[in-house]
Amino acid sequence: MRVVLLIMDSMPHSMVNATDTPNIWAQACAGGRAPEGGLSLPISVTYSNHAAFVTGLDPVETKLWGNAGWVDNKFSPTAELGPRGETLFDKCNNAGLRSVAVVGDHHIVTAIGAQSATACWPPTPEVPAGTELDAYGYAADSAVVAAASAVDLSADLVVLHLNEPDTTLHVFGPDSEEALAQIKASDQSYSELVSLLAEGWDNTVLFTISDHTQEQITEEQAINLRGAVESNGWQAVVAHDGTGAIVVGDVTPEQIASVDGVGGATRADDQTVLAWTEPGFMFGKRERYTMGNHGSPRCRTQLAIVSGGHSIVPELASQFETEQPTTLTYAPLISRLLGI
Ligand SMILES: [Zn+2]
Repeated sequence: MRVVLLIMDSMPHSMVNATDTPNIWAQACAGGRAPEGGLSLPISVTYSNHAAFVTGLDPVETKLWGNAGWVDNKFSPTAELGPRGETLFDKCNNAGLRSVAVVGDHHIVTAIGAQSATACWPPTPEVPAGTELDAYGYAADSAVVAAASAVDLSADLVVLHLNEPDTTLHVFGPDSEEALAQIKASDQSYSELVSLLAEGWDNTVLFTISDHTQEQITEEQAINLRGAVESNGWQAVVAHDGTGAIVVGDVTPEQIASVDGVGGATRADDQTVLAWTEPGFMFGKRERYTMGNHGSPRCRTQLAIVSGGHSIVPELASQFETEQPTTLTYAPLISRLLGI
């Protein structure tokens, strides 16, 4: 069996339909999908969800809450901390299976430990010289398709990642015309990636997923939760994470939720509170700097489609249709499928 995890960063479940995204839609119709989409980790951001896609480990265990993780009594970028557990790539290596990763956001190489894959693009967590880039300096979808075309995809595990939807939705917001145009364009890139899987399709299980969605930022002034914690004299440190935030220290969710612009807060473990903004706001020190963002519980819905030519696909499709998959579903499910 070949298992393919194809991740479209920020692709909204709600924007997948027969007209705008006919290629994604065709896979959902041929296989199946979660009717309400999948569910991201509580902090709806890129790196923690990607790390957990390949480990199945809950942030309560890894402390990779969001784009920042709390390790050795300090916040560090999750993309640098790595997945903090055995990954699907490690398991493939231990079982003598071949694995491939081709990712549009080069930080994801370290976030998912893809250096351990049999083949990885980019080979280091940097953008190779001459790569076509998106507005944030990540590999454009076309560059990911080109890189995937140059790799032997006859493998047991293939992880593919398209980044452009995330960048465009950040720049213009998910409700913009530009977002719709990007989603249509990324559906075409998706179609090209699926075409690369034609050889061996009868043996393939394809999971088409996203990590989170985005929300429109309408308010000019960002919510400075870090500043509010300091000015209240609370003994805690804060990592702003778009429309979400991670607070570690001696504070209660009630204290955090009392800050102006905070929409809510919840306890994640004995020293950690997760918070989110009121709709339209993002966390930060100054004015907003993006028109779209994510992090809050409002952005937890994921694309969750399973398709492919393998005979097990109808059974998996019925699972997706009856029980909502989450970020933590994929690693144990793929381990079971590959027998690793
Ligand atoms: Zn993302």
